[in-house]
Amino acid sequence: MSASESSKPFLPFTRPTVDEETIAGVVEVLRSGWLTSGPQVKSFEAKLSALFGGRPVRAFNSGTCTMEIALRIAGIGPGDEVITTPLSWVATSNVILAVGARPVFVDIDPVTRHIDLSLVEAAITPATRAIIPVDLAGLPVDRDRLYAIAQKHQLRVIEDAAQSIGATWGGRRIGSFGDFVSFSFHPNKNITTIEGGCLVLNNEREAKLAEQYRLQGVVRSGVDSMEVEVVGGKFNLTDVAARVGLGQLPHLDTFNSQRREHARTYFELLDTPAGRALGLGLPPADFTNSNWHMFQVVLPEEKLTIKRAGVMEKLQAAGIGNQVHYPAIHLFAVYRRLGWKAGDFPHAEYAGRNILTLPLFPAMVRADVVRVVESLTAILSAHLKS
Ligand SMILES: *Cc1c(COP(=O)(O)O)cnc(C)c1O
Repeated sequence: MSASESSKPFLPFTRPTVDEETIAGVVEVLRSGWLTSGPQVKSFEAKLSALFGGRPVRAFNSGTCTMEIALRIAGIGPGDEVITTPLSWVATSNVILAVGARPVFVDIDPVTRHIDLSLVEAAITPATRAIIPVDLAGLPVDRDRLYAIAQKHQLRVIEDAAQSIGATWGGRRIGSFGDFVSFSFHPNKNITTIEGGCLVLNNEREAKLAEQYRLQGVVRSGVDSMEVEVVGGKFNLTDVAARVGLGQLPHLDTFNSQRREHARTYFELLDTPAGRALGLGLPPADFTNSNWHMFQVVLPEEKLTIKRAGVMEKLQAAGIGNQVHYPAIHLFAVYRRLGWKAGDFPHAEYAGRNILTLPLFPAMVRADVVRVVESLTAILSAHLKS
């Protein structure tokens, strides 16, 4: 590495963009005397509902809890099975365990890196109640095939759309159709509330239940009456956080088009004869549906004399942030204790060992992408098996 290269500013793999108007708005909320769930949350929920074609939407303090609550609203618990992917943030399957149900993993399609829908029907049993598909990297799972399977077998769907806000399927916005749709507003996601999430529901009955599960099951009525009919938790979003979200929403489309542009540059530089000679696995070049939440490559382990950790260290040393999203879930200790083992889902395991997230966020510039590609190709070229 040359001295000039190491003196370049560190490029993180992602970074939220928060404008001054939002910061001023947060200061106003802090001065308003009302900090927790209140008018800002109501206003945020109304804006989200408008974004999703008028469907009921409720905001929460994480994306994770929205999926757990959707499972509870669907009445899913002990004795029930829920089909999902082994290649996701572990939250996706942890929520299934949290409600006492059993995750049933189905291997991924190595091209889309999504749950392989052609394998789902074989995994359905009389105990199957729901499917949780994950739009990894913001690329939507095929909603036509997904809902055809769900309808045929009378299954609920909880779309883990944590990464796919602003993405579309067949020209329709993810969240504006389907069954339950869950989004996350973690700072790494395409828009943020610092921490937070929202759940798109089917009707007001489900929305009322979501409100109960969100805050200790409490229902208030009259002047001084309170009732509790379900065991809820503490999942409400603060007004401070909601104000951040209100400042983010107007930028969603711009953020996503900036991400798309950088993704295009990655393809322009990597999808070349020289790039292909490296054997790097590129994501599907989808410029219609995806919101380009992440740009992930899969390292060709069989062609390299260096492991992923070595590549990551060298990129880091060159001032380039990078991350793993994600190791295969079924190989975590909690899941191995429940019976899963290496070899169960070979495509997810290969991706889990070799997938690598490269920098992609709205405030990047083209020169940043060029720098990432130059560093990565130099590292890989120096470690190709002969
Ligand atoms: C971020 C994320 C979640 C969880 O969201 P939190 O807001 O962090 O709870 C769930 N699933 C996937 C795929 C995610 O990326």
